[in-house]
Amino acid sequence: MNKTLTDRIKISAKEAGFDLVGIASAAPTGEDDRLRSWLDQGCHASMSWMENHIDKRLDPTRLMPGAQSIVVLAMNYYPGRISHDDPSRARISRYALSHDYHRILKKRALGLLSEIKSWSESIQGRFFVDTAPIMEKFWAVQAGLGGMGKQGLIVTREFGSWVFLGEILLNIGLKQDEPQPDCCGSCRLCIDACPTRAIIAPYVVDANRCLSYLTIEHRGEIPPDAASEMGNRIFGCDICQEVCPWNIQRATVTNKKEFLPNPIHVDLQLKELADFTEEQFRQKFGKSPIKRAKFDGFQRNVRIGLRNAEPLPFT
Ligand code: SF4
Ligand code: SF4
Repeated sequence: MNKTLTDRIKISAKEAGFDLVGIASAAPTGEDDRLRSWLDQGCHASMSWMENHIDKRLDPTRLMPGAQSIVVLAMNYYPGRISHDDPSRARISRYALSHDYHRILKKRALGLLSEIKSWSESIQGRFFVDTAPIMEKFWAVQAGLGGMGKQGLIVTREFGSWVFLGEILLNIGLKQDEPQPDCCGSCRLCIDACPTRAIIAPYVVDANRCLSYLTIEHRGEIPPDAASEMGNRIFGCDICQEVCPWNIQRATVTNKKEFLPNPIHVDLQLKELADFTEEQFRQKFGKSPIKRAKFDGFQRNVRIGLRNAEPLPFT
């Protein structure tokens, strides 16, 4: 264990712009049963890549042989209050209102990793943000960044759940942080608020029912009962985060201008989006996480949003 190096890494991580940093030991997760049960129930829906590299997912030393420590990094992206009351305007999940966070985190973390490596030729490391089979939320809890929320997201004491995560695996032993205890207690606000009952048990989300999955990853039609709950949510869903007391009390507007809402993503009229060509979609959302839905999925969501915005006929 190297305390001086640990402190140095944490200071450099803060200097690189990360809001939170913690360290865990790179040991097997012991999450085998939980992960396999979730997969066996089909809760990953069509995200078949979740079935791949399970050995690496469960044991980071298979991802990077010789790894001893995981530095877990978080950035607050909360963009502030945004009014979505007008049903004729598109509602986009907060994380997707700015530029693609992968690039932003990657640039800063790669800078941090190369600084750490410059301290000694023997230091080796790898950086990940959503790009590898690594159980990032598990590791965020182990590294003391936050507790696991019943909606399946990390809940930090400083910023609530509005954080992006990244991890650096290193081949050096570092001082570990204490894992965070449970943050939910008897609360079940997120479970009760979910419009599609996608949180089938505390800490277990069934993607097949989740509007985030259905509007972003799912290809093909969205089941009618879920579509009617979308309202004007055409990309993602923040309901289970909006009701969380931690978010209500602790959310702080990000100090990273890269995460502030891009004005062109905030005021989107559904009728205009419905007329977009594929080229216009690419031009407008090519640098945004919204491109993940693909043109067909995006248009499908817009059509549902328009349908949901129509006034109910008299009966
Ligand atoms: S993102 Fe929306 S649909 Fe998915 S679990 Fe949360 S509230 Fe439910
Ligand atoms: S709403 Fe309640 S149960 Fe859900 S994550 Fe927040 S504290 Fe936990």
